[in-house]
Amino acid sequence: MKDQNNISKDIMWEATVSCDPAYDGIFFYAVKTTGIFCRPSCKSKVPKCENVSFFFHATEAQKAGYRPCKRCRPDLKSKNYDPFMPIIEDTIRLIENNYDQKMLLDEMASKVGVSRFHLNRSFKDRTGYTPRMYLEKVRIKKAKELLLTTTLNSTEVGYQIGYQSISSFYNAFKRSTGVSPSQFQTNHVKT
Ligand SMILES: [Zn+2]
Repeated sequence: MKDQNNISKDIMWEATVSCDPAYDGIFFYAVKTTGIFCRPSCKSKVPKCENVSFFFHATEAQKAGYRPCKRCRPDLKSKNYDPFMPIIEDTIRLIENNYDQKMLLDEMASKVGVSRFHLNRSFKDRTGYTPRMYLEKVRIKKAKELLLTTTLNSTEVGYQIGYQSISSFYNAFKRSTGVSPSQFQTNHVKT
């Protein structure tokens, strides 16, 4: 924890711009134009310097008329608050709702508002999967379902769940289940 007694405006501004989680709980920044205040680590858009005021307590910011940011929840006291959790949740939702579309890491990152590098690293840290691996997991789960409950053949299933090429579908399926999609289908046909 940093000491708030020897922390200058320059340092606070620097921490705000770099979204430095080391300063969470030490100070809050409020943005005049939006009326919202945030933790330093918040991944929301970096405000203009001239619109920012700093507070050492969330209650001071609220007294000054600012509302807590919904994303970083500066009004919650938890020390275990993980500023990346809302981003991880958004990414999971994004993947689960769009697994059947072509999805690039860059696009996912820009949709949830962080850099590709940060998304990859923090997603892996918290879930054990990279976003790409997670997408694959969701797709394969869906593929198994389709193979067993529809009359689609494995090629059709591959396209339906968002693979751009059948060989990548086959490889991913085999990596995850140990068998090819058609073997899987055969193995599970009830006699
Ligand atoms: Zn925020």
